Amino acid sequence: MRPARLVTGVLTYAAAGAVLTVLIAWASALWLPDPKLGPVATSRAKASWVPAGHELENTFRGERFGATRWQIQGAPLDTARPVFDSFVTNAGSWGLPMRSVGYVKIYDARARTTRSPTWMRGVIMPVWVQSWAMKLSPKGTPYHGTLPLVPQWTGLVVDTAFWGLVAFGVAHMFVRWRGARRVRRGRCRVCGYYVSGLKACPECGDMP
Ligand SMILES: [Zn+2]
Repeated sequence: MRPARLVTGVLTYAAAGAVLTVLIAWASALWLPDPKLGPVATSRAKASWVPAGHELENTFRGERFGATRWQIQGAPLDTARPVFDSFVTNAGSWGLPMRSVGYVKIYDARARTTRSPTWMRGVIMPVWVQSWAMKLSPKGTPYHGTLPLVPQWTGLVVDTAFWGLVAFGVAHMFVRWRGARRVRRGRCRVCGYYVSGLKACPECGDMP
């Protein structure tokens, strides 16, 4: 195989793999059920990952939903306030075989709104998409309806390679199947030109 063709082939399947990776992650983020598993962690570590203006001081509590989504509630700086009543972080990531894209949403719980995060990386889906997804999910499943947009680089690379190989395998099997069917019908394996009895294809020069 000529090097230029090899490079084009690898790039084509890498692109197909990347598209499949993102579509699979988005579809599972929007349509897979996401059961609440209950509180799993309480920590007193300083939450240094919170963006500027949303620093938490001492305590935050994690809750896990399904295998992929976390909700983290932080205590206010003012300890006289009720605990777990300041900022609520929702973070989740999706993808197969590894998680490849995620989202982060931070709500100011004191504002008592679930509609408008104060900080987010993701796109909240329109209501019709959310109600479609909720119809497919088991009753009582919490649902956030957010398209994840934060790349998880290791997962993106691994998933792109994985789905690129799957696309290559499927394309290869299709070409072989089509070639075998053409040969059975007395046609050229490569281009489908009628070659019954001839040694080489007069159209493309292929010699079976
Ligand atoms: Zn041919």
